[in-house]
Amino acid sequence: LQNQIMQAQKMESLGLLVSGIAHDFNNLLAAIVGFSDLGMRGTQQKAPLFHEYFEHIHHRAEQGTRMIRQLLAFARGTPLEPQYLNINEQITAHLDFLHALLGTSIQLDFQADPGLKAIYADATQLEQVLVNLCLNARDAMAMGGNLTLVTQQVEITPGFQPIHPYMVPGSYVLLQVKDTGIGMDESVQARLFEPFFTTKEVGQGTGLGLAVVYGIVKQHQGIISVQSQPGLGSTFSLYFPAVEPVIEPTEKLQPVVSTEVE
Ligand code: ADP
Repeated sequence: LQNQIMQAQKMESLGLLVSGIAHDFNNLLAAIVGFSDLGMRGTQQKAPLFHEYFEHIHHRAEQGTRMIRQLLAFARGTPLEPQYLNINEQITAHLDFLHALLGTSIQLDFQADPGLKAIYADATQLEQVLVNLCLNARDAMAMGGNLTLVTQQVEITPGFQPIHPYMVPGSYVLLQVKDTGIGMDESVQARLFEPFFTTKEVGQGTGLGLAVVYGIVKQHQGIISVQSQPGLGSTFSLYFPAVEPVIEPTEKLQPVVSTEVE
């Protein structure tokens, strides 16, 4: 538990640091994108070589902008467009896509708890979480394996051993992404949510995937934890606060009209 508290505090200070830097860089990059765009247009006919240079600058600056956007998503999140969602439905809608993403050597299974409550979440960001976790699982199973998605309704009552130091008693929707891949040792587990932490080769990973996942889960007041053993595989567990959806009345009540006849 002490370890988890230290981990959470480390992520908080990293978030503060990153958010300041990312904000300033975002402005710098916007200027570079804008001026290189002007440069490209001004040289298109007259100076093809310079046009090409400007194209390179533009391309790199846009790459940088995408990275900064991911960093900001980690540090302070992006605006949410939340709605009441059933995670089972969200996953089912993406199963074909995930199958294609994982390829034929990975067996994908989905164990859905039918008694799942709703969550109040941004569907696009939830999809991003799912995709990032599945891409990592795929990379961890280069020789093939099993990826299992599990959902479960979890009630944490007061006095229960908390799963995470920051978890308060309540009703949660649990989503687990389990793989039978290479797993992670303690030193990787301690750092895996940090932005730019990667064990992949240069060009293979940016180290931003899990930082983005962390940011999104945190923004949804959720909790993420990982269990892993080298050689056996990894399980990512995501707890989202469950909500009772507010049902909007579909038909307005008819006003009572008095039809008094004199
Ligand atoms: P990237 O995938 O670009 O390296 P991530 O932030 O997504 O960045 O992951 C950081 C690191 O965490 C990975 O480089 C890898 O070492 C480790 N990791 C993440 N998911 C898994 C997994 N399912 N199995 C094994 N290692 C993983």
